[in-house]
Amino acid sequence: MLAARLAVVTGGGSGIGKAICQKLAEQGARVLVADLRKETAESTAKALKGENHLHFAVNVAKEEEVANLQKFIETIPNSPEILINCAGITRDSTLLKMSTEQWKEVVDVNLTSVFLMSKMLARLAISNEKPLSIVNVSSIVGKIGNFGQTNYAATKAGVVGFTKSAAKELAKKNIRVNSILPGFIATPMTEKMPEKVLQAIIATIPQGKMGSPEDIANAALFLASDQSSYITGATLEVTGGFAM
Ligand code: NAD
Repeated sequence: MLAARLAVVTGGGSGIGKAICQKLAEQGARVLVADLRKETAESTAKALKGENHLHFAVNVAKEEEVANLQKFIETIPNSPEILINCAGITRDSTLLKMSTEQWKEVVDVNLTSVFLMSKMLARLAISNEKPLSIVNVSSIVGKIGNFGQTNYAATKAGVVGFTKSAAKELAKKNIRVNSILPGFIATPMTEKMPEKVLQAIIATIPQGKMGSPEDIANAALFLASDQSSYITGATLEVTGGFAM
């Protein structure tokens, strides 16, 4: 389905990003795993189906590091046709206790990174006259909010606004921009949550269970591929029916 297409996946070393790398590689893509942690980026890339996968250690919240990633990408013969913006963090606290540092860290990693990476790869795709599909991993929390996550919810709602605006600007340049809103997915990010809180959330999910990283990877594959060629600016909720 994706034969020989180069796909860049941020946050590709763990959880949802890793499952997306695996799914894209299974469909024939050449994957560049871009993650803060060199070891997990490397081990993920090495374990992918097929050969010639790549990895790069990068803090996608930092402009100078994204510029280094660009230099690396420009050494690869094919121009990226898929960008999955999946890197994300939580720094939970109630608003009354949240530090400005906790606020800024989440904004930088979850939102500024989407701007930096999308701008960089959109410019590259346009100059190489290549199509590009950008898939931004937002969150259902951006739609409904969550106790202790004013910073996280604001960034994830921001990603949706960014997606729709960029989709309008780039549609005629053969670039599509969509976002996925995962519900509660079993990954290292959610395994830190207290069991009591998890069970209370699960009780409100119509399908009665958490999602798997593969559930999100299937949606990302659809939006990255030509199967969704007439879809841009969309937000796809993958939540087991939660908060519909
Ligand atoms: P995870 O913690 O398992 O993986 C996140 C990855 O991002 C890690 O490999 C980490 O090293 C990387 N990363 C963090 N900061 C980075 C940076 N500055 N630069 C580059 N890489 C960085 O988390 P996950 O649960 O797989 O979440 C992935 C995405 O899905 C996030 O954007 C998250 O907000 C979103 N999401 C997750 C859930 C869930 O329930 N797990 C729900 C909705 C949305």
